[in-house]
Amino acid sequence: MKRVYLDNAASTPISKEIIELMSSLMKEQFANPSSTHFDGRKSKTIVEESRSIIAKILNTYPRNIFFTSGGTESDNMAIKMSIENYSIKHAITSGISHHAVLYPLQKLEKEKKIKLSYVELDENGFVSLYDLENLLKKNSRTFVSIMHANNEVGVIQDINKIGLICQKYNAIFHSDTVQTVGHYPIDLQKIKIDFLAASAHKFHGPKGIGFIYISDNVKISPFIIGGAQERNMRAGTENIHSISALAKAMQLAYENLEKEMLYIKKLKSYMIEKLITSIFDVQFFANCNDLDNSLYTVLTVSFPLTKDSEMLLFNLDIAGISCSGGSACASGSNKGSHVLSYFDPNAQRTGVRFSFSKYNTFDDIDYTIQKLKDIFN
Ligand code: PLP
Repeated sequence: MKRVYLDNAASTPISKEIIELMSSLMKEQFANPSSTHFDGRKSKTIVEESRSIIAKILNTYPRNIFFTSGGTESDNMAIKMSIENYSIKHAITSGISHHAVLYPLQKLEKEKKIKLSYVELDENGFVSLYDLENLLKKNSRTFVSIMHANNEVGVIQDINKIGLICQKYNAIFHSDTVQTVGHYPIDLQKIKIDFLAASAHKFHGPKGIGFIYISDNVKISPFIIGGAQERNMRAGTENIHSISALAKAMQLAYENLEKEMLYIKKLKSYMIEKLITSIFDVQFFANCNDLDNSLYTVLTVSFPLTKDSEMLLFNLDIAGISCSGGSACASGSNKGSHVLSYFDPNAQRTGVRFSFSKYNTFDDIDYTIQKLKDIFN
């Protein structure tokens, strides 16, 4: 039976080049990068070369890149360590942040270590810069965590402007860029940012590997301790085949960025058009049908409630389509998505996130539309 994979915001297929690179490294380059013999030094060189590749793409220095297990760890590290090290008493985030950001912040609030403010968002999920500035003005030195692009509805924040506002008030600025690294150019010489987080499995690399960027303006102690790896910043033997795969996946993503972005935008635009013309009363969460102002990989469709709505994801799955209802991280729990309920507080509609990659085809979209028509019409 045909299967169509439209859940690329949850995870992307690993590209062939990456699988080949990883398997050859796993076969041949198993030495511990901390070992001082020839084989160990070779492993160490692979780690350092990977760091340099990533730093160059982001226009920063290798000393600012630290490998981690991915987005969740990077977010946790930035949040917990800067709040602790700088004795921060106030933090700002938004109600639609990923749980990798919300949960550590809410835990610190519960423990009465910080006061947590939620910046106002407009009806499409854009941060109110006026409210952000107001919150910063009224409080002591603040930790700000605003995600670059939302994984569930695709709203993209202006991290350049947010960074400038944070700088004006001497706030520490962290951005969860998990959905944009590998998909958008990011120039760290231009953005005033202290921390960003990235994860390889969002751009055709393996799972369980990512990095944190830490600017020269901040200094934090390690989150995971027990070894001198990553210049004492992240203990644990380096996962060299994944680190190398992360760098290679990033290199491939940025080499082909414009071409792939254009292709995926065409897929998204095609799906929007087909949905509007084929299905009665479709709407889009957070204006994610606005191609220029939303993540081009994500289309979160709001369908009218029908007697079968609750079963929509299930029925699509049975019909061969893998997609998700908001965040995949929340699937498996019967609690609805905190992001979709922000935009639709009374659960008036059913939300389905379709997310694309370069491996999708126009046939995939036609197939999905046909199955949706069978369900709705
Ligand atoms: N932040 C965002 C915006 C994400 O989309 C995800 C993954 O779904 C994460 C963080 C977590 O990243 P990882 O899976 O690498 O821990």
